Amino acid sequence: MSGKPDLDIAPQPTPLLSERWSGVPSRLTSEASTARTRLYSNKTLPHSAPRQRPARLPPGLSESDFSTAVKDLRQSIGAENVVINDQPLKDGWYLEHPNTHDAFHVVEQEELVCSAVVYPGSTEEVQKVVRWANKHLIPIYPISIGRNVGYGGAAPRVPGGVVLDLGKRMHSILNVDGENASCMVEPGVTYFKLYEEIQNRGLPLWIDCPDLGGGSVLGNAIDRGVGYTPAGDHFANHCGMEIVLPNGELLRTGMGAIPGPDGTDSPVWQSFQNSFGPKIDGVFSQSNFGIVTKMGFWLLHEMPHRSYCFTFAQDEDFPRIVEAIRPLAQKGVLGNIPQLRHVVQELNVTGRRKSTFHDGEGPMTREEIRRAAKELPLGDCSWVFYGTQYGDAQSVERQLGVVKAAFSDIEGTKFWLPEDVPQDHYLHSRVQVNSGVPILRELDWLNWLPNAGHLFFSPITPTRGKDAQKIHDMIVAGHKKYGFDVFPTLCIAGREMHYIANVIFDRADADQKRRAVALLRELVDDCAKEGFGEYRTHLLFQDQVARTYGWGDQALMRFNETIKDALDPNGILAPGRCGIWPKRFRGRGWELGLEDVDMKVIGPKL
Ligand code: ADP
Repeated sequence: MSGKPDLDIAPQPTPLLSERWSGVPSRLTSEASTARTRLYSNKTLPHSAPRQRPARLPPGLSESDFSTAVKDLRQSIGAENVVINDQPLKDGWYLEHPNTHDAFHVVEQEELVCSAVVYPGSTEEVQKVVRWANKHLIPIYPISIGRNVGYGGAAPRVPGGVVLDLGKRMHSILNVDGENASCMVEPGVTYFKLYEEIQNRGLPLWIDCPDLGGGSVLGNAIDRGVGYTPAGDHFANHCGMEIVLPNGELLRTGMGAIPGPDGTDSPVWQSFQNSFGPKIDGVFSQSNFGIVTKMGFWLLHEMPHRSYCFTFAQDEDFPRIVEAIRPLAQKGVLGNIPQLRHVVQELNVTGRRKSTFHDGEGPMTREEIRRAAKELPLGDCSWVFYGTQYGDAQSVERQLGVVKAAFSDIEGTKFWLPEDVPQDHYLHSRVQVNSGVPILRELDWLNWLPNAGHLFFSPITPTRGKDAQKIHDMIVAGHKKYGFDVFPTLCIAGREMHYIANVIFDRADADQKRRAVALLRELVDDCAKEGFGEYRTHLLFQDQVARTYGWGDQALMRFNETIKDALDPNGILAPGRCGIWPKRFRGRGWELGLEDVDMKVIGPKL
């Protein structure tokens, strides 16, 4: 599937938020246009190519069964809301967010694809689709926006499943409560949309957003994504959900289970998370137990803030940096979820190509990184710590004094404020993200390779020098073995850090894709042997990761399967998501593990 760029099919202009639910706010028009031009100019793959294989059908259905089922669904929710996925696939780019397949395909592009996309317009229509799926035994896979890049995008785990794209017609901000500092959103509300709405209303409130602002507030939270303000743990800051269960019934969690007077919602739905009895919200995150159609979130009050960074001189300083950070984070001196990044990330966030710094194949050498970093604003260094302190000027000054003192023993440490670096330096982007302003800056590193796609390897790492070093060493050794540059970012809390290693590959290069898979398989296995596991992973690694949480002869998985079978006896809802397979699929060759590196066909093994 490689070849000349298909220049006849020009990329679509990026729609604005005023034109499309998933568009960009007008303040980012120029950034979006620059990002798109750069990405498209670094592309050798055609925008689309004719399909090599027939369109996928749901497993177990004949063409005529499927066509009867589609007719049935079209009658129930409108023909225009059911679209068969039989056209050439387009990877597009972040803002086009295809809902037909995994745009960052690490296997053949046509492998992780759906048979059709369905657009429900209300909770009632979601219930209709669920009942339809039960009737025809068709797996359905809900997405909110489908920009879950690096983790499988919009693709269903079972090829030929039907994608339920909730965002297109269910994207209302149902409530923003300025007094309670909370909101209630539908699946298609992006960080961009929520942020702009709060600005338009002139409320002195912040949202928390991840590095890229085009994702779904609800989708990111139920996939347990993180951001960078003091409310960076998105699931921990949700309050109340409405869920369609796999049998079509409707459930409200938290105080939402109390009906309000005269058919209204409970006035405390967004005020108290725990309600009464078992707290069940958690089982609807990273699972396939329900479809979330509404979700409440707490918002922050805006506050003065000061972003900064520290640079460290030596790669070997890593465990000492971690040791210095731990007490700061545990005592709450660090106001947010700060990041520790290796200096190589300073190179790729410039948006420049790897070929600017390095000739030929293979990863960059440390010497090349050093030489290139010398020319950049922070200079030749090893690790960069990006933090933000919150509060009035005096308080921030005092907090910064404590942080500086903690790092002062590490020789060669330098402290930088935004005014010390040029306007286009990454530190200015952190000022925005760390105060809840959603942007697009993080797209820049996708220019590193032509046709770049990426996978995240994301183990939970103790905030303890010795263990962090052990995990880092494994990641470095694995990347070296499989020939990839190492891009580590650590999102730091007091007791653990989300280590996010970003494996960037060229989608036109089958060998690179194979090596990326082999690297991830091996890292998951290596970390598990030391008792470490991932917080989140790409669809194709979810079985393997889930099985590493196998204490007590897979007690956790057996518990999850018990819930799955009780709630979803027909196994229609996102089979295989997070490694949880319903009875109908379980043990029939769908599960993928360490040995599955050459994944030519995703389906039951004979
Ligand atoms: P984002 O665009 O914010 O990254 P996605 O819409 O891609 O988020 O959602 C991330 C993952 O969470 C999806 O792959 C899907 O498995 C799951 N998911 C998303 N929205 C829902 C929902 N409303 N109900 C249940 N699961 C969902």
